[in-house]
Amino acid sequence: MATRAATEHLPFGEKRDPRFFGKDILSVSQFERGDLEILFEVAHEMAEMVHRIGTFDLLKGKVLTNLFYEPSTRTSSSFVAAIERLGGSVIQINNVTFSSVSKGESLVDTVRTMEQYTDAIVLRHPEQGSAAEAAAATEKPIINAGDGAGEHPTQALLDAHTIREEMGGIDGLTITMVGDLKYGRTVHSLAKLLTLYDVRINYVSPEILRMPELLVKEVDAAGIDQIETAELGSVLPETDVLYVTRIQKERFSDTSEYEQVKDSYVITPETMLGARQRMALMHPLPRVGEITTAVDADPRAAYFRQMEYGMYTRMALLALVLGKA
Ligand code: ASP
Repeated sequence: MATRAATEHLPFGEKRDPRFFGKDILSVSQFERGDLEILFEVAHEMAEMVHRIGTFDLLKGKVLTNLFYEPSTRTSSSFVAAIERLGGSVIQINNVTFSSVSKGESLVDTVRTMEQYTDAIVLRHPEQGSAAEAAAATEKPIINAGDGAGEHPTQALLDAHTIREEMGGIDGLTITMVGDLKYGRTVHSLAKLLTLYDVRINYVSPEILRMPELLVKEVDAAGIDQIETAELGSVLPETDVLYVTRIQKERFSDTSEYEQVKDSYVITPETMLGARQRMALMHPLPRVGEITTAVDADPRAAYFRQMEYGMYTRMALLALVLGKA
């Protein structure tokens, strides 16, 4: 458990926000709306700094571990870019077969080792609850970069930041999530995070990939209107943010089930004709056919901008967690 006291002597230039400093980032449920406002403001400033000077020394001397037990392109490399643009450095372990994990080392022993060398650990692992397990065993902050079908909190933070930047705010919007809502950890975290705002949420999925009932109940308890349907067309015209997800092949135990549902929803330029003129089309990526490349030129296609916002959001998070924002 990350427990560093906020009262140590502060070197010049350090500012420590007790809501973030030294904290593990395990679930979006740990945030209040005010925390997000701070994070998004810092992320906005990070974007300005990157545009102006590219790389700067805010986290000079800080070292991050990127520990990935599952494949990743964006999460892993955006954390690398984030720490390096802030002047820090990173130890990258993304092929655990070449580490002592292949000798049978436990997750706890690996993270306890890495915390001796580095200031924070970004962890992706196939098992739900693994980030919490690692956090319970360590003093340094653990940042959950996806725990199986559980949560992906930093993705939800960057998604919310993207919605805010693209649509000018979050309150009052209708957000439609499409695809694999059962195994998609990004939509699990995003739906939870959106309970901090005044939004309506539509869930569009095949029957076998519906949003987990427990999560729907949790969102309902927060007073959010939700609609579940298998028909995208029935909710598309009222949608401000269309959040498309990949069918998570790797989480199916029965591949024939995957084959049945894999092409359930494909967004094409024709689909976009039925969408609002002012809306944002998002996707956490990778896409494997859910949005055709012909859609990429549509100004409403925000998924690559979403990745850029992701780097700024992760820069802001690292700066706040490491006490320098
Ligand atoms: N990149 C996202 C994740 O790690 C989405 C995906 O893999 O489909 O959850």
